Amino acid sequence: MLTAMVISPHADDAAAFCGGTLAKFADQGWHVVMVRVTDDSKDSVGLTVEETRRRNTEELHRAAEILGIAEIVELGYETDCLADASEVALRERFVYLFRKYRPYAVFTFDPFGLYEGNMDHIRVAQAVEEAFWVSCFDLHHPEHFAEGLEPFSVCERWYFGRHLPEANHAEDVSEYMERKVEAVCAHRQMMRNTFNQYRLQLRTWGRRMPWLEEAMDGDMRPLLALFFQEQANGVARAFGLPEGRMAEAFRLVRFGDLEELFQTMSEPLPDAQPAPVRPTLDRPPESPRWSAEQLEQIFPVDIDQRIRLMGHHHLCAGAFEELFASPLFRAGYGELVARLQPSPDVLIESIYGYDIFCYQCSYWSEEEGRCVTGWQNKISKDAAVLAHLGLRTGQVTRLEDLQRLLAERVTPADLERFCGPGEWKCEFYLLGICQRGYERLRERFGVSQGGEG
Ligand SMILES: [Zn+2]
Repeated sequence: MLTAMVISPHADDAAAFCGGTLAKFADQGWHVVMVRVTDDSKDSVGLTVEETRRRNTEELHRAAEILGIAEIVELGYETDCLADASEVALRERFVYLFRKYRPYAVFTFDPFGLYEGNMDHIRVAQAVEEAFWVSCFDLHHPEHFAEGLEPFSVCERWYFGRHLPEANHAEDVSEYMERKVEAVCAHRQMMRNTFNQYRLQLRTWGRRMPWLEEAMDGDMRPLLALFFQEQANGVARAFGLPEGRMAEAFRLVRFGDLEELFQTMSEPLPDAQPAPVRPTLDRPPESPRWSAEQLEQIFPVDIDQRIRLMGHHHLCAGAFEELFASPLFRAGYGELVARLQPSPDVLIESIYGYDIFCYQCSYWSEEEGRCVTGWQNKISKDAAVLAHLGLRTGQVTRLEDLQRLLAERVTPADLERFCGPGEWKCEFYLLGICQRGYERLRERFGVSQGGEG
C-alpha cells in the first residue's frame, strides 16, 4: 500500500487545496496521513482560545473522515507564529515523519509559489522542501535510527498554492468535488473566520454582502461550492481537460532535469510495488521526428556499404559497439541503430557537412537547420580530430582500418579532451561507455594500454 502524506500548516489547508486529490487517492487504496503543523487556536470568531482549539480539532477530524484520511499527526505549534519558529527544528519533525511513514508522495504548499501572504504556509513549505533531501543524509539526525528508522527519500512532491506559475499537473477530481466541498464546510469555525475577514473589509469600504453574512451563521455550502467549483473548472480548462471537468493544480516534482535519464536508464527493483503512472511525467517515447520519406533521404540506401561522417564523428566509430548497445543511445538514434550493421568493410567517407548522427541529436535544431552548439564549435572540433588522426576531408577509409587507427592514435586523455566536459563536450561520452569501447578496441588490435599516439 502506498502512503501519501499531506503536510497542512492549518487544519483547513488540506481540504481547501488538495481535498479532491486526497479523497481520490484514499479511494484508490492509498494510506493517507495528515500532518497538522499548528493548533489553529486563533482561527474563529467570538470563541475563547481554548474553545477555538477544541472546535477546530473536532472539525478537522470530521473533515478527515470525509476525505478518507486515515491518520492525523499533530505537531502543536502555536498558530500564525511559525515566522518566529526555528526552521531547522520544524524541518527535523518532517525528516522524522518521512523516515517513519515513508510516503511515496508528499503534499504541501509550493515553496516557490507566488502571492502567499501567510508566513505559516511559507515556513512549512520551505521546511518540507529541505526535509526532502535532508531525510536522505545518514549524518542528519542519526538519533532517528535508534528507533529502527533509515534514511529515506520521498518520490513525489505535490506542491499546491494560491498562484502556481510552474504548475505542471492537473488532477481530475470531478467525481470528488462533492466530498471536497463537504470537507471544507466541516471546518465551520475557520470558514466563519474567513467570511468575517471579508465582512470587515467590505465594511471599511462602506458596503455589506448579505449572502456572505447569512452564510456565516447559516448554510455555507452554496457559497463555498460555488467558489471551489469555479476554481476547479478554471484549472481543468487551463489544462485542456474536457468541458465541465474539475481539477486541482499542482507543481508535481520528481527528478527534475534527470527525469528523462532515469526513465530511460532505470530498471525495476525485484520487490517493488507497482508505481502509479503519471502521464505528465512518464513521457511516452517520442513519436518519430521524421516521416518515412524524410528517413529515406537521411539514411542512404547503401548505408551498410558507405557512411559519410563529419570529422569529429570519426571518433564514434571507436565505440560503435558500446553506443549501439546503450539504451540511451538507442532512445535517441533508434532509426540509425536499426538500419546500420557496421561491418569491417563499411567505407567511411570524411565530409564537411552534417551527417546521420546530427539529425536525431538533441543538439540539432530543426527550426534553425543546424547544430545548436554552433558552426565554429563543429569546425574546430572536426579539424582537430582529423589532424590528430592524419585524415583529410574527402578521404575514404574502411571501418576496420579506421578503428585500428583510432586504437593506435587516441589515448584516454585524447578522448577526454575531444569529448569530455569542456568546449567540445559530447553528451554520450558523459555516459562513460566510450572509454570502455576504446579499451576493447586497443585489446582487439593489440595496442598497449594508453595507445601510442
Ligand atoms: Zn492555512
